[in-house]
Amino acid sequence: MKIIIVGGGISGLSTYLHLRKHLPDPSSHSIKIYESHPPRSSDTLPLNSKLNLDTLSNSTALVGGGLGISPNGMRVLRDLNVDLHDAVAAQGFPAEKFVFKGANGWTLGVQRTGDGSVRTEGEPEEVCIASSRHGIWECLRKAVGEGVVVYRRVVGLERVENGGREEVGVRTKGLVDDSDGAGVEEVEEADLVIGADGVRSIVRTSLFGNEEKFKPTYTGLSGVGGFLTQSIPSSITKEKAMIFTFGRNGFFGYSSAAPVTTQSLMWWSTFETSSLPDTKNIDTATIKAELVKRHQHWRDPNVQEIVKNAQIQSIYPTWVLGELPHWGKEGIVLIGDAAHAMDPTTGQGASQGLEDSQTLALLLAETLKREHISQSQPERMKRAVDLANELFYEIRRPRVAEIVERGKMMSNRKANVGVVAEYFMYFFLWLLNKVPLIAKLILGDVNRKLYTWSAKNEIQKALEKRDRTSASSGNYAE
Ligand SMILES: Cc1cc2nc3c(=O)[nH]c(=O)nc-3n(C[C@H](O)[C@H](O)[C@H](O)COP(=O)(O)OP(=O)(O)OC[C@H]3O[C@@H](n4cnc5c(N)ncnc54)[C@H](O)[C@@H]3O)c2cc1C
Repeated sequence: MKIIIVGGGISGLSTYLHLRKHLPDPSSHSIKIYESHPPRSSDTLPLNSKLNLDTLSNSTALVGGGLGISPNGMRVLRDLNVDLHDAVAAQGFPAEKFVFKGANGWTLGVQRTGDGSVRTEGEPEEVCIASSRHGIWECLRKAVGEGVVVYRRVVGLERVENGGREEVGVRTKGLVDDSDGAGVEEVEEADLVIGADGVRSIVRTSLFGNEEKFKPTYTGLSGVGGFLTQSIPSSITKEKAMIFTFGRNGFFGYSSAAPVTTQSLMWWSTFETSSLPDTKNIDTATIKAELVKRHQHWRDPNVQEIVKNAQIQSIYPTWVLGELPHWGKEGIVLIGDAAHAMDPTTGQGASQGLEDSQTLALLLAETLKREHISQSQPERMKRAVDLANELFYEIRRPRVAEIVERGKMMSNRKANVGVVAEYFMYFFLWLLNKVPLIAKLILGDVNRKLYTWSAKNEIQKALEKRDRTSASSGNYAE
């Protein structure tokens, strides 16, 4: 079977690794990744003062900076490969707690990040790993190895007939700075194309066209962030925590991005603005001045120190995607941000991409096994791919939708508010942390839901349901 993955971000790389691990008869499949952006050497470089954001990758530059991989995401990595899991954990900072503060200096709550309380005895606990995005991406990229990622931009998909068999043609263009293939177009056929090409997915456009309702929308919140080389504040090291501060005019977060001895402090500031940055011309001096002004009255001395020394290294207007009616058909499937870009407040985007990749690979392995396929049975292969595709949406959509809904509640806490609303927000956050029962009533048992979800269990349930339905309608597979 020939598979092309579009996009070599966290979701695309992880999908490649899961497919290689789970597909039956692995050497009989050809799997390739097309990526439109050659990697930057590091995420922690300052942005040039005059920069064209259009030339940067969503994954590795524009929304570069830092992120936290939640316990559910870390568990997917552990299932995939313990060495890879350990490498991701080792390059990052294991954040055992989240500390929530108000801009006025109050501590509103402390939450444990670990999934120990919902695990059976003897299972290792996962905690949130805070890291530069580049650090996580680099671990996955190393695990994928050489010769898999091809640096060409995918510019469109088309249906092609190949010896009486319908395939998906992937049209690619050589990159501008590649002297061999600059601008040259090629078409390559595949049995399955996986769109892991992020929030502005070309694969999604080829499935749904240019209708506005299938395009991402700007949330009204933008952010800036970066890294500082300095000793890590004791509020982080003492509690082994990431610090999140909410204020009337925005939000500020900081954490260690690596083992504490590395002295890599990451920070980000989110604020409400109706004007998107001019992507052709980013003026970092003005952005820095606005950053200083925005946080000038915030009480945490660490925030003041960081803002004073900060260099702007990443800029991210936040985009989200509405719910799609399907995530693909006839040999095309969307995963990760291409299918369901969600508000960063959820802290789940990358972890959901990881869960997608595991679920899709396990499903495809299962449906291929059920069809007892050999290479010369294209009809059966197509049937297996179609079933995997359908079940993938059936299993993953409700999971993602629930997380998106919860995220909406929290993202409101980052928008500009008046002084009364500011103190109401502090009280609300304090109450949620102080009286877990209230949080449970409003949000449900979030950690249990997030951390006990299992792709294997969900696949088994979905297949059993399909079998029951087929049996009762007398519609057995051949
Ligand atoms: C500010 C911010 C903070 C966040 N914080 C967190 C967090 O703490 N925890 C968390 O879990 N998530 C977080 N997220 C979300 C997370 O970053 C994304 O969900 C995740 O990176 C999605 O990965 P992806 O591989 O699906 O997409 P992307 O990372 O966007 O990767 C897509 C890849 O496809 C490539 N590509 C695009 N178009 C083409 C094309 N035409 N041809 C070939 N290649 C193409 C891109 O260059 C890119 O490499 C955050 C997001 C933002 C914006």
